[in-house]
Amino acid sequence: MSEDENKMHDLVIIGAGPAGMAAGIYAGRGGLDTVLLDMMGGGGQVNIIDRVENYPGVPDIDSGAQLADLMRVQAEKFGASVTFDQVERLEAAEDAVTVHCAGGSHRARAVLIASGSRHKPLGAPGEGKLMGKGVSVCATCDGPFFKGKHVAVVGGGSSAVMEAVYLTRVVDRVTLIHRRDKLRAEKVLQERFLAADNATVLWDTVVEEILGENEVTGLRVKNLKSGESSTLDVAAVFVFVGLLPNSDFARDVVELDDWGFVKVDLDMRTSHPRIFAAGDVRTRSARQIGTAVGDGITAIVKIQEMLDTDTPARQFDRVE
Ligand SMILES: Cc1cc2nc3c(=O)[nH]c(=O)nc-3n(C[C@H](O)[C@H](O)[C@H](O)COP(=O)(O)OP(=O)(O)OC[C@H]3O[C@@H](n4cnc5c(N)ncnc54)[C@H](O)[C@@H]3O)c2cc1C
Repeated sequence: MSEDENKMHDLVIIGAGPAGMAAGIYAGRGGLDTVLLDMMGGGGQVNIIDRVENYPGVPDIDSGAQLADLMRVQAEKFGASVTFDQVERLEAAEDAVTVHCAGGSHRARAVLIASGSRHKPLGAPGEGKLMGKGVSVCATCDGPFFKGKHVAVVGGGSSAVMEAVYLTRVVDRVTLIHRRDKLRAEKVLQERFLAADNATVLWDTVVEEILGENEVTGLRVKNLKSGESSTLDVAAVFVFVGLLPNSDFARDVVELDDWGFVKVDLDMRTSHPRIFAAGDVRTRSARQIGTAVGDGITAIVKIQEMLDTDTPARQFDRVE
């Protein structure tokens, strides 16, 4: 057992995206002995954002990676530097939680899960190569870059249709592509989308390929009923076919919802008194940089209260 494995830390933060970085800054400034872990080195999804325009106080920044770097520098300034490791499993006891990683274990009086989520990929050729170059998973983030253009949205659930409604207001034309003949989205959203003059739906249709070399130039789509393939000229495709939370390592220790998101109350407490969760990995997150940062801060304020009084948080208030 390594020296660190014997040591009792105040806090382990799992994930150094915006939620984990914000938590790291507050924990460092608050004097907590903290281990900040990330399997990709930190920055989270922000690293892949082309441009960020909607994070308050940062009106114009060349790339998401630059914002992630600023967060990293600020966290390091307060002693929260990122340890490169992948969390595999949590082991919770009454007085501590042990975080087992590929490279070793860390024991702490509190744990914050800030491991984010990832969008389920479409699986169509061209998707990976053109991610951030016309392929997007965030309409409010990237929609305004396609003002005056024709774009596609893929999906049929509420988040797909909600983002499609938003896009009807900012781009020239929106084509929603759905593999079935009816949408799963809430009725009010469906009605709002179909009422827009610039909205079209391609029913029973799947994307076979995303076309383009350095940017999206179109889609090859196939109608599942007729079997016919055709090309759709679009400048961007927004993919909303589901989200996958990065919560597998916590499955046996905290309550998850039906989709695998960690259940929390308004203080970011999970069902385990020493474990908190923040950002995209938690239930009902708005999935924005700003909300992830807010969650991380809320969690540290509450963790600090718990550690100061050495009283594990009472069971979480159910807010589902
Ligand atoms: C293409 C794109 C564009 C976007 N544009 C915007 C925008 O313009 N504005 C905006 O506000 N939001 C935007 N978003 C959303 C925003 O990036 C997320 O809401 C935000 O990053 C969530 O932060 P988080 O800290 O909760 O999670 P993440 O950013 O997902 O970070 C989680 C971190 O946890 C780490 N991790 C995961 N599992 C483990 C593990 N087992 N062990 C160790 N580490 C682990 C990951 O490596 C990652 O670094 C965009 C998202 C995407 C994908």
